[in-house]
Amino acid sequence: MSQLEKNVTKLNGYLERFHKTGIQNRIAGADVAGEAGVFQTISPVDKSVICDVAHGTGGDIDAAAKAANAAFAAWRDMAARERKEILIRIAEGIEARAEEIALCECWDTGQALKFMSKAALRGAENFRYFADQVVQARDGQHLKSPTLMNITTRVPIGPVGVITPWNTPFMLSTWKIAPALAAGCTVVLKPAEASPLTARLLVEIAEDAGLPPGVLNTVNGFGEGAGKALCEHPLIKAIAFVGESRTGSLITKQGADTLKRNHLELGGKNPVIVFEDADLDRALDAVIFMIYSINGERCTSSSRLLVQDTIRAEFETKLIERVNNIKVGHPLDPKTEIGPLVTQEHFDKVTNYFDIAREDGATVAAGGVTVGEEGYFVRPTLFTDANNQMRIAQEEIFGPVLTSIPFSTEEEALQIANDIPYGLTGYVWTNDLTRALRFTDKLEAGMIWVNSENVRHLPTPFGGVKASGIGRDGGDWSFEFYMEQKHIGFATGHHKITKLGAL
Ligand code: NAD
Repeated sequence: MSQLEKNVTKLNGYLERFHKTGIQNRIAGADVAGEAGVFQTISPVDKSVICDVAHGTGGDIDAAAKAANAAFAAWRDMAARERKEILIRIAEGIEARAEEIALCECWDTGQALKFMSKAALRGAENFRYFADQVVQARDGQHLKSPTLMNITTRVPIGPVGVITPWNTPFMLSTWKIAPALAAGCTVVLKPAEASPLTARLLVEIAEDAGLPPGVLNTVNGFGEGAGKALCEHPLIKAIAFVGESRTGSLITKQGADTLKRNHLELGGKNPVIVFEDADLDRALDAVIFMIYSINGERCTSSSRLLVQDTIRAEFETKLIERVNNIKVGHPLDPKTEIGPLVTQEHFDKVTNYFDIAREDGATVAAGGVTVGEEGYFVRPTLFTDANNQMRIAQEEIFGPVLTSIPFSTEEEALQIANDIPYGLTGYVWTNDLTRALRFTDKLEAGMIWVNSENVRHLPTPFGGVKASGIGRDGGDWSFEFYMEQKHIGFATGHHKITKLGAL
C-alpha cells in the first residue's frame, strides 16, 4: 500500500463520524443544531460532499454569546496556574490528534499534507507559548508620582469573537484562541464556511483538556449571517478577524454601534525584491517557497517578484524550470507540493487571472492551466513581462500565481514595492547591509525579512499596515488586544484637594 493509500484509509476512518453526525454547533459544552438547518462542506479534491454542517444564524450567535458571557467570570477568576495547565493539556491534545487534524484539514481545504502536518503542530506550539505567559499576563507597572502610588494592571476584556478564513483554519484559529484564553477571555468562534472540520476537533480537544463549558463555543455559518451577528452582538467585546480586506471593512462597520474593538488581519500583495548582489540560489528557493507553498493561499505569500533587470533573464529562466517541476496532486500524497484550490468560487477567481494576464499584455511563462476535471487543481503559474499597474500586480489572487516585474535601480524597486494598497510583508534579498537597512526603513510593510523567507518567531509582532490590517498579534501584543489596561492611583499622604463650595 502506498503512503497516499494509507493516508486515505486513515482519513476515511476519521471522517466516518462526520458522515454520520455532521458538524453541530458547540454552545456551553453541548451540541446544538443550527437555527437555519444545515449546509454542506465539499472536498476540493473530488468535489464530494464531506458532511452536513449546522447553519448558524443570529439566534445561535446570541446563545453562544450568552454562554461565553456566563462562563466569563469563573474563567477570568480561575487561578492562573490552573488555566495554564488547561492550555498545556490542550497543546498535548493537539499533538495527540495532530495526524487527524492534518488529514481532515487537507481534505477540507485542499492544502498539501507536506505543509498541514506542520501547521497542526504549530497550533500546539501556539497554546504552549501562550500558556507560558498566563501567569504574568495581568502584571502591570507602578508609576510613582509626588502624591500617588499609581499602579497598572491588565484585565481580560470579556467574551470575544474570533472569525477565521479557510486557508490554514486550524493554525489560524489557535493563534487567536490561545492568547484569548490565556488572557482570561471566553470565545465564540465562527469558522470559515468552506473549512469547518478542524474547528470542531479543536473544541473537542479543548473540552477534553478540561476547558469549562461555554469558555470556547463554535457557531458555524456564513459571514453575512452568523459572522455579522457576532460583530453586532453587545455581549461580545472584541472581534479578532482574519480574512479579506473588504470583509475587514464590513467588520468595522458592523461593530460600530456596539463600539467593538477589532483586530484585523487582512489581505496582502507582498513584494520580494531580488537585487543583483544577492545570493541568487537562496533567493530563488525562497521566492518559490513563499508563493507556491500552501497553494499560494497564504496572506504572507510573496506574490510580486521584483527582480533587478541585470539578473532578470537568468533568474526567470531558472524560476520557470523549477515552477514547471512543482508537483501538483492529491493533498494526502506526501510528495505533493500543491493541492487543489479550496472552492469552485476560488478556482474560478484564480483561473480568471490567467485571461486577465494575457489581456493586460503579460506573458504566461509557466502554468496558466487547470489540471484534470475531478477537483479544483491548477498548475503553479508565473507571469512575466508585467508592470506594477496591471491587475495581476495590484490584486490579491491568493493562489499559486507569481507576477514578475523588473526594476533597474533601488529607488525604482522601492517605488514599485510601495505602490500598492496593501502592506503586510516584504522580503529583501541583497548582500549590501547598508542597502538593506535603507530599503527596509522605507518599505511599507508590517513585517519584513532580509535574506530569508517568512520564519515566524512567536514573540515578534505579526500584522500589516495600509489595507493589510490594523493591530498586531504575537508576544505581549496579543494581550494588549484581549485585555484592558487599568490604572489605580493610591494617595501616599494628605495632598491638597482643591475645595469647591466650601466657605
Ligand atoms: P473572507 O474575508 O471572505 O472570510 C473570512 C471569514 O469572514 C469567514 O469566516 C467568513 O464567513 C467571514 N465573513 C465574511 N463576511 C463577513 C461579514 N460581513 N461579517 C463577519 N464575518 C464575515 O476571507 P477568506 O476568503 O476566507 O480568506 C482569504 C483572505 O484572508 C485573503 O484575503 C487572505 O489574505 C486573508 N488572510 C489574512 C491573513 C493575515 O494574517 N493577514 C492570514 C490568512 C488569510
